Amino acid sequence: MKKIAWAPFLYIIGYHLFLAIALPIYFMSHTPSWGLVATTLSLVFISGLAVTAGYHRCYSHSCYKMHPAVDAVLLFFATLATQGSALRWTHDHRLHHAHVDTDKDPYSVKKGLLYAHILWMFKKSVPIDSKVISDLSRRSMLIFQHKYYPVLMVVANVMTFLTVGWLFNDYLGAFLFAWWVRTLLLHHTTWCINSLAHFWGTRDYSQEHSAVDNYLISLLTYGEGYHNYHHTFAYDYRNGIRWYHFDPTKWLIWTLYKLGLASDLKTVNNYRIARHLLLQHKDELVQKLKESAAVQKVQEVADRLSTTLAQLQSMLDPVQIRAAKKSLREDWREWRHILKTLRKESLLNA
Ligand SMILES: [Zn+2]
Ligand SMILES: [Zn+2]
Repeated sequence: MKKIAWAPFLYIIGYHLFLAIALPIYFMSHTPSWGLVATTLSLVFISGLAVTAGYHRCYSHSCYKMHPAVDAVLLFFATLATQGSALRWTHDHRLHHAHVDTDKDPYSVKKGLLYAHILWMFKKSVPIDSKVISDLSRRSMLIFQHKYYPVLMVVANVMTFLTVGWLFNDYLGAFLFAWWVRTLLLHHTTWCINSLAHFWGTRDYSQEHSAVDNYLISLLTYGEGYHNYHHTFAYDYRNGIRWYHFDPTKWLIWTLYKLGLASDLKTVNNYRIARHLLLQHKDELVQKLKESAAVQKVQEVADRLSTTLAQLQSMLDPVQIRAAKKSLREDWREWRHILKTLRKESLLNA
């Protein structure tokens, strides 16, 4: 009992029970307007983005810098999201990355899917270690938000539901939908990042942690479903690196950048990503092929490709770049040929 964090426990269980009772009663005599439903869903999306673009990609991973005005707006909506203060969130998230899947990971999926989704919040958290968030120690807005978080969170939610109630002249509907249904939807979608995004999907970039990439999860989580990539290259402001990957957080940051409201967007060099994938593929092949005679050839071509990809990351001279790309194309061709032959010989079916 001493280990239970009573405030989050009562808050979360309390509002789930409240909605389970209040919604059926409400629907017996009321129907929410389309405007109210659309506003509620928009608020879910905006506050979700505030958490992913603000708490996650800016504070936790320093993927970019934002204008103080954007900072204030995102912080308001992230406070509305009711996921703890930015400092606490960042602290826990940095521990999650540094100790993923171990006992020191606050929401380790190794303790179960439900634990990573919700139960971890019912356990008293470790005190904030100031060293983990030392870079944020002078951010006065964040310190203020942390100090008065419970009050600010309630004020933000009351202000929002009163505004929506006034807009649609429906205070009861706004109380239920723009506050509590929104909180429910927002909570479960962002919690999926800790649960489903560590459980259901592919692990193309790294097998060393449980994080997965899953397009469907990114639809639910404001673009955070490319979680295997994110855990592998956490400083990239993108999670979905292709233009067509559903990552509204990336699109928001990029738009802010184009408007002059964000700067220093960090991305991982494409050659570096390709080299990382190649080396991983090579290791898998070498393990599969074991004593086969093909191992030497696989290693030889992969090493050649890896050297060129490493050189291309820092090359500036156009003539050198052209020559390197030419040899890269030739080596890729050879690499693909090796894979085709191995498949034909059924050496890769194991
Ligand atoms: Zn992260
Ligand atoms: Zn994660």
